[in-house]
Amino acid sequence: MGEAAVKIGGEKKSIFKDKVMELLPDGGNLNACLTCGACASGCPATGLAGMDPRKFLRMAALGMDDELLSSNWAWMCSMCQRCVHVCPMEINIPALVYNVRAAWPRETRPKGILGSCDAALTNESGSAMGTPVDDFIFVVGDVLEEYQENQPEFADMQAPIDKKGAEFVLNQNSREPVTEPDELVPLWKILHTVGVDWTYTSKGWAGENYCMFLSDDESWKHLTTQTIKAANEVGCKTFLNTE
Ligand code: SF4
Ligand code: SF4
Repeated sequence: MGEAAVKIGGEKKSIFKDKVMELLPDGGNLNACLTCGACASGCPATGLAGMDPRKFLRMAALGMDDELLSSNWAWMCSMCQRCVHVCPMEINIPALVYNVRAAWPRETRPKGILGSCDAALTNESGSAMGTPVDDFIFVVGDVLEEYQENQPEFADMQAPIDKKGAEFVLNQNSREPVTEPDELVPLWKILHTVGVDWTYTSKGWAGENYCMFLSDDESWKHLTTQTIKAANEVGCKTFLNTE
């Protein structure tokens, strides 16, 4: 554990812990920790930067906000929620992580996540690659045509965009239409083979939401609202989040 040792110095209140407890039902159960370690044992970020979720929670409980803020570990958490699912007390550690991230000035947050969030805000696709709606429509049409022509068994396959009344709306990873367009096709083939009535939407089609990982509430809300609005406009019954 070496560098993982926690120095305890007096009683302090944690603004992160207080914030989460204020926001979540039952205060996110943050005071109910049994220190069993189940969260740490299954966490992919355990051991990085000398931290793990149990330690992170204990430090917050001890009011060690400055120490939590001076570590990069909050940005190493993948927000996978595994710790919440294995915790006997269902303690919401990712919510705590989210609030620690939000305490960083926006311009100091990790460049990759920041840049992807900002790129998504530049277009109506919500694409972290900055792909405009028209480019997405072109790529989908182009790739579809190629497969319809070259693979006769999929000559009738469709990849609809803004199809009114479709049963399912699917979103799409931003990277594939730009860097690996052939990767779009396997899912289309499955949907075609099993006869699913589906569509993309032209706006808000991009599936990932880096603004959530950035802890930027307003931008996260903007992207999510854009996607929901587009899905409602086509009148779909079910939204399938592929990300
Ligand atoms: S699994 Fe839950 S109860 Fe156990 S140490 Fe982690 S947060 Fe505490
Ligand atoms: S949500 Fe974060 S803290 Fe919890 S298991 Fe996943 S990476 Fe670890």
